Amino acid sequence: MNRAEALKKVFEKIETVCIKSGRNPCEVELVAISKTFPAEDVMEVYQAGMRVFGESRAQEFRDKVPQLPSDIHWHFVGHLQTNKIKYIVPKAELIHSVDSLHLARALSDYAQKKGVVSRILMEINTSEEDAKFGTAMDSAIDDYLEIANLPALEACGLMTMAPFTDDERAIRRSFTRLRKIREQIAGQMAEERVAILSMGMSNDYPIAIEEGSTMVRIGSAIFGPRGR
Ligand SMILES: *Cc1c(COP(=O)(O)O)cnc(C)c1O
Repeated sequence: MNRAEALKKVFEKIETVCIKSGRNPCEVELVAISKTFPAEDVMEVYQAGMRVFGESRAQEFRDKVPQLPSDIHWHFVGHLQTNKIKYIVPKAELIHSVDSLHLARALSDYAQKKGVVSRILMEINTSEEDAKFGTAMDSAIDDYLEIANLPALEACGLMTMAPFTDDERAIRRSFTRLRKIREQIAGQMAEERVAILSMGMSNDYPIAIEEGSTMVRIGSAIFGPRGR
């Protein structure tokens, strides 16, 4: 299967799962995660019509973005160290992976200096695995309210990564937790300030859509397996 066909399959699957779970397919946005793949591979998916791509490594983002057409909407989805913010802001239209107050403050300071507003999601560790990045669930609501008030950030919602496991219940639990945290936050501020739920990757996006995902981040199901 070539990448154009793989992309089409993913769109069809999103539509099927939406319809089966009583959702409108327009509610779920696809972000093609191109990490580790060179610009010519990204171009293949671009030629098939895709315009929204995500990267997860700061240097790779910095190096790849200028090699590709300027009408691509770039997202950043990986762990970000504060000393690499300059590679990402203002080029990324959405940063999914704000995993600490420390990073949020540094992002806001940098964006303010540049005279821009950065759109961000707060990443929450819903699987409670130590190895995963993300704000702890018990401080998530307070942290979100604080991040949403930073001057140069526009908080748009939440992101999570499910545990890496075959246990469907554990994966679903992770997504349900994110949805519930969103509902709690939405009770405390304007709902559009926490509109996006970024959850679901190649192996688990059907479950994520059933649990209310509005943005799926899909790499290998479109690009093929990653070598590194
Ligand atoms: C790599 C990555 C993805 C995509 O993973 P696949 O399993 O290849 O779909 C999604 N989100 C984040 C944060 C990633 O790092």
